[in-house]
Amino acid sequence: MKSKIWLSSPHMGGAELEYVHQAFSENWIAPLGPNVTGFEKDLEQFLKTEKKVAALSSGTAALHLALILAGVKPNDEVICQSLTFSASANPITYLGAKPVFVDSEALTFNICPEALKQAIVDRIRNGKKPKAVVAVHLYGMPFQITKITAICKQYDMVLIEDAAEALGSCYKNQACGTFGDFTALSFNGNKIITTSGGGALVAAAAETQKAVFLATQARDEAPHYQHSQIGYNYRMSNICAGIGRGQMQVLNQYVSKRRAVHQFYKSILQNVKGVSFQNEPDATYFSNYWLTAILIDAAVCGKSANDLRLALENENIEARPVWKPMHLQPIFADAPYYGNKVAEKLFTTGLCLPSGSNLTTSDLERIKKVLVAFFEIETES
Ligand SMILES: *Cc1c(COP(=O)(O)O)cnc(C)c1O
Repeated sequence: MKSKIWLSSPHMGGAELEYVHQAFSENWIAPLGPNVTGFEKDLEQFLKTEKKVAALSSGTAALHLALILAGVKPNDEVICQSLTFSASANPITYLGAKPVFVDSEALTFNICPEALKQAIVDRIRNGKKPKAVVAVHLYGMPFQITKITAICKQYDMVLIEDAAEALGSCYKNQACGTFGDFTALSFNGNKIITTSGGGALVAAAAETQKAVFLATQARDEAPHYQHSQIGYNYRMSNICAGIGRGQMQVLNQYVSKRRAVHQFYKSILQNVKGVSFQNEPDATYFSNYWLTAILIDAAVCGKSANDLRLALENENIEARPVWKPMHLQPIFADAPYYGNKVAEKLFTTGLCLPSGSNLTTSDLERIKKVLVAFFEIETES
């Protein structure tokens, strides 16, 4: 059996272990310490922002805290991009609030400005203005930031930016991760950089301070343990943050590599009829191409995205369907949805190809062979 080629697997740069050793030698084996502070500083510098970063146990925890800080309460409504990973929507329900799902547009695969506007207007007409909007940079591609931020401003709504997949992406030369009132980052094992598991919240200094307070059991100022609010245990450990510090040294390099992988797929597939890519719409968009996503029109190709997934699986190569939209998930069957089935179409025709920064030349050759055979592409030699 040939070795497995993963969709996106952890890729250590080399310096991570030194930071972890340092933590051991100083006995900072705790959810605080110099690596946590250092990792937060590294991220602030990378994002080129005045905002502050709080390192947390996961991206999901960051979204949960963002919703709390946005003032979301039981029975409130929160608008959420439907085409996303479930972690964008789940924390809404942790608070007893209700997600309202909005369709994508075909250009970026992300939340559609027109459908968003329609959703806000209709929910207000129904008597309940949603508390916040959760927008996602899917697979690293920035959502239509100018339009979405303008709509949030017009209706005075909190924007929660889910940048879990978009560290290293930019829009108009500004880093993704700095556009929301609150932003969530993720360092899960398959993300562009990893701390084995982890996340971060990016927000104005005062908000980040509140997030750290809530993430450390909401302990009031007192010698004994006193609490006036419900707290959480959401801080990142100093060991994990050590891995993160090492990963920050190679982040730019990994963005370049993932973009090169995207170009590699383009060079093979760009002339294949019925195949299209999730593309940067214009030069103002810069995607980290965390995952390269393609769409296969089965009516043109005679074969579907799922057929390609199976052909790759046959060679022990992992590919994954585009996220199944949240409004089509059994658990969210009752949630309101606004849109025109764009997300549904992206789901049925889309496939994410192996995109790791650690793919080797021989891995890429193996993948190419499957693609060439599957689409019956004529090669020169
Ligand atoms: C990974 C991911 C999350 C959750 O991050 P975790 O660190 O795994 O909790 C949230 N949203 C999106 C879009 C993600 O891809």
